[in-house]
Amino acid sequence: MYVKSLTLKGFKSFASATHLRLEPGITCIVGPNGSGKSNVVDALAWVMGEQGAKSLRGGKMEDVIFAGTSGRAPLGRAEVALTIDNTDGALPIDYTEVTIARTMFRNGGSEYAINGTPCRLLDVQELLSDSGIGREMHVIVGQGQLDTVLRATPEERRGFIEEAAGVLKHRKRKERALRKLESMELNLTRVQDLTGEIR
Ligand code: ATP
Repeated sequence: MYVKSLTLKGFKSFASATHLRLEPGITCIVGPNGSGKSNVVDALAWVMGEQGAKSLRGGKMEDVIFAGTSGRAPLGRAEVALTIDNTDGALPIDYTEVTIARTMFRNGGSEYAINGTPCRLLDVQELLSDSGIGREMHVIVGQGQLDTVLRATPEERRGFIEEAAGVLKHRKRKERALRKLESMELNLTRVQDLTGEIR
């Protein structure tokens, strides 16, 4: 599995559609300060479902949409598409190539699609979490973040390992199931109260 391409349009400084084709192995992006290198990494995190504006180096989520320059008007939406080569089947989906797309409009809200089919954020997160690329985004280590990893508490470190091992997805599912169970129990108590009153 490797990242085959990344297409950005209206995302941060990438106003025009920009297609980056990548090869297996190490890719280096070089360029002057402020030319948009980190924006490419932000696009990668964003398309995989990143929800934190701060993690994307912005104040609010709409900051990812091209804000305009002296010569170009702001845009109304940001779009990023990530194509992953899945010939080794690392992603649990029956396609040898998987394209994950995310679009965001200025009035808020994001739309996601997997291979052109609209889907939920949860579908994107679940698809990626089996491959070790999960919602906590530990695969992307930003400038200064190495320190955070090195200073992590044992619990946080366990979280990193669980995510990499694919355990976190099941823990989150268990938490969701327990929350549902709790609300069902409340409903059951209410029903018992009501039947008691009726008798
Ligand atoms: P450095 O080498 O200094 O880390 P870099 O190449 O990583 O720089 P980035 O941080 O990726 O650069 O890009 C910063 C540029 O992106 C700035 O010029 C900033 O104005 C521009 N930028 C960020 N968000 C937007 C946006 N929403 N609309 C337009 N331009 C944006």
